Amino acid sequence: MDHAPQNDIIRTSAAAQAAALRAGETSSEELTRAHLDRIAAVDGDLNAFLHVDTDAALATAQDIDSRRAAGEELHALAGVPIAVKDIVVTEGQPTTAGSKMLEGWIPPYDATLVQKLRAAGLPILGKTNMDEFAMGSSTESSAYGPTRNPWDRDRIPGGSGGGSAAAVGSFEAPLAIGTDTGGSIRQPGAVTGTVGVKPTYGSVSRYGLIAMASSLDQAGPVTRTVEDSAMLHELIAGHDPHDSTSLTDPVGAFTRAARAQDVTGLRVGVIEELEGEGFAPEVRARFTESLAQLERAGAEIVRVSCPNFTYALGAYYLIMPSEASSNLAKFDGMRFGLRVVPEDHPTAENVMKATRGAGFGDEVKRRILLGTYALSAGYYDAYYGSAQKVRTLVQRDFTAAFEQVDVLASPTAPTVAFRLGEQVDDPTAMYMNDIATIPANLAGVPGISLPSGLAEDGLPAGIQFLAPARADERLYRVGGALEALLEDAWGGPLLAKAPELTGGAH
Ligand code: GLN
Repeated sequence: MDHAPQNDIIRTSAAAQAAALRAGETSSEELTRAHLDRIAAVDGDLNAFLHVDTDAALATAQDIDSRRAAGEELHALAGVPIAVKDIVVTEGQPTTAGSKMLEGWIPPYDATLVQKLRAAGLPILGKTNMDEFAMGSSTESSAYGPTRNPWDRDRIPGGSGGGSAAAVGSFEAPLAIGTDTGGSIRQPGAVTGTVGVKPTYGSVSRYGLIAMASSLDQAGPVTRTVEDSAMLHELIAGHDPHDSTSLTDPVGAFTRAARAQDVTGLRVGVIEELEGEGFAPEVRARFTESLAQLERAGAEIVRVSCPNFTYALGAYYLIMPSEASSNLAKFDGMRFGLRVVPEDHPTAENVMKATRGAGFGDEVKRRILLGTYALSAGYYDAYYGSAQKVRTLVQRDFTAAFEQVDVLASPTAPTVAFRLGEQVDDPTAMYMNDIATIPANLAGVPGISLPSGLAEDGLPAGIQFLAPARADERLYRVGGALEALLEDAWGGPLLAKAPELTGGAH
């Protein structure tokens, strides 16, 4: 049983933890140990972590403590621990992408964003659970068992980055890294009462992310406050010559925007296609109330139509599997992780067949088949080609909408967290969870999800804001302001209302 008091340091924001370190009220070693203790106490039940690296995390913490004692100028987040989704490669630490295919694989290098975390002195607590190769909305397709939602352990924590969201939501880590190809940062954020940001495509380097769909993938922050996301985004963003799609723009002043607390005159467009049918009544009610708060604070709320968003999900489920089928071809039993050698005729082709048959789970196989089919001769134009046309139409909808408004808004996910097992046998139902998040990936625009309140069954719901490409600052401006307004109304952060966790095994 965990008896941590509500004001325990692990329950504060990363910004507050960083301030406590600077003020000498705690050390990074103490802070890191407190999080490792919390993981030991509750993760047997949650399964948010696939790998915990106690020694490496403490070594970084001790190094930062001695450098701070020596008067060295450190990064604002130095000494604050972080968890990293297991699709991001970490030198010397296992990286499985939630798949049996990569069981036991130790990457020989760090992703660019991990290099940045290490250079800034953030102790890496470990690697978080996820749907296999980031394909899913519930973390149930992980080969290592599902993660549970800290609000209700019979429910899913969202996906694919359910491990990162559950770790942050359960105070195992103040910060985490996620990746978002169709919603995998924002939807888990919504259903766990945490904050998640998908940056503008190209803002954060993809070098060292195990690719799912290269034209859609973006890494970003998973945190408990908007300011924490801004600080982490500033740290991991920036041009990287190792990623040919990396932007050369200077990194925006996200933290300043998060602290501005001013939405006067900000034009917020409600996406008509993403707030009606299919969205749960209380999720919609919290969304409408959040907009009313912004309006009272001086924002202008207007309705905007993005008619092609209706086709975004269909286009995504052709483009994403097409790219994934090509990206996953490299898992052939020859180079990484698993190799299954059949006793009969162990030819190269048979080794590949046996390895891919044994190493990939059902959802991954489904998408490889779908993508291979969509790209095949005779079908390419009808499927992949048409989907690319829809993608252009979605991009045009965004361009037209952003001529009228500064940011767009919708509920992040259509419902609160559903029960474990409820949608595993119904892929179409599972895919529908991303109806509101996918358009941003198709267009490369940035999005944030933050808690909008408690909805059905007393579980958290999220509100999403989208901004034009390279205007991520607007997300922090509107998100920071709304978070403050809502927390005033609630009398504190939403996560303070989550039930206390107890430990124990599954
Ligand atoms: N849930 C979506 C899918 O299954 C999005 C995944 C993601 O963003 N990685 O494809």
